[in-house]
Amino acid sequence: MNRFPDLRKAFPFFGRQKEEEERIYLDSAGTSLSLGCSIDAMEAYLNDYRANIHSGGYRSSMKATEAYEAARREVARFIDAAEPAELIFTAGTTDAVNMAANGWSRGRLGKGKAIVATQAEHHSNFLPWRRAAQELGVPFRIIPVTEEGGIDYSKIEEIITPDCGLVAVTALSNVSGEVVDLESVIARAKACGALVFVDGAQAAARIPLSVRRLDIDFLAFSGHKCYGTTGCGILYGKRKLLEKLPPFRLGGGMVRWVDEKEAAYASLPALHEGGTPDIGGAVALGSALHFLRETGMEAIYRHECMLTKACTDALAALAGVQIIDVASRPHCGVVSFRIEGVHPHDAVTFLDSKGIELRGGLHCAHPLHTALHWSGSIRASFGIYSTEEEVETLTREIKNCIRFFR
Ligand code: PMP
Repeated sequence: MNRFPDLRKAFPFFGRQKEEEERIYLDSAGTSLSLGCSIDAMEAYLNDYRANIHSGGYRSSMKATEAYEAARREVARFIDAAEPAELIFTAGTTDAVNMAANGWSRGRLGKGKAIVATQAEHHSNFLPWRRAAQELGVPFRIIPVTEEGGIDYSKIEEIITPDCGLVAVTALSNVSGEVVDLESVIARAKACGALVFVDGAQAAARIPLSVRRLDIDFLAFSGHKCYGTTGCGILYGKRKLLEKLPPFRLGGGMVRWVDEKEAAYASLPALHEGGTPDIGGAVALGSALHFLRETGMEAIYRHECMLTKACTDALAALAGVQIIDVASRPHCGVVSFRIEGVHPHDAVTFLDSKGIELRGGLHCAHPLHTALHWSGSIRASFGIYSTEEEVETLTREIKNCIRFFR
């Protein structure tokens, strides 16, 4: 039995829509809708026990601290980290990558070694590493994509070599939806003595990820793409690496002792969490991840792969529609395409007028679009609440869109 349609009840968004104004939301890769349980968790923090964490010996502060740390334990369980202290709450994926790359550029890790990224990266997992390489004066090398837009695995041995210190790679492309063969990339990186930084922004809520099984060194993802709220994300790192990574956020809460010349920094995870974090966002994220774990990440992966295939098959059958297709490999949750003679922004406006919400443009992935010689694409992306009927409506309205602009 398909229990996914039932999951829609867990999202207040659907209950609040007036029938005549119902929208089909297909921009979950941009941000997902929030689960009711994560909104409730945030509200409870804001309404019932609002206080700062790790600072007060009074009841509300202790309750806030416990809720925040319980969320950290939930995140650790969700990605199978060895211990909660390896999870750093950040403002999102972008923030997590910048924190790591900023620390990396100080040279205590991977000194003198090249940095590698793929051409399929979102700018968030590209620009910070490019700048780190510039600052360190080391090569920044790119694993290209194929003509179809998938990672070109045949180039991995040539690009990841023993002079390489770090490989930045996405687990799931936010444009093609390709589920990257992390095992191969990580195996090559490890064989060359390089560390791996995985961008899990699109993967975290779509595919089961075990950092220990995959031997991932660093992982970043965002709460708002995992049915939580905006403003909170995660940087995972192995303990020995996070301890060596110079902290980016210097300030309150991350020191044991300070004078004019020196500071003794706190231990993990506080070392990387200077300042007051998004406490409500963290408890919201913990609650959302608990929901996903209970639902089952394998089942979620299958559901989104099914929708992706249904969408890809339906669009491939339409004359004048071209998909960024990586059909020979797994792809999940995201389908990008273009319509001959129709600008992506015009298509998005047309679809919006039909109640379908999705995104057009370059999706913060200019290198990938440039490699394909595409000036932009239309992107449909799914969540656990998305349905086959929605894919059918999308297909029907794309046909109407083609007719309208011809
Ligand atoms: N990486 C990927 C693959 C993404 O899709 C996104 C969000 N579009 C990001 C990084 C950045 O995430 P955030 O905006 O939440 O920091």
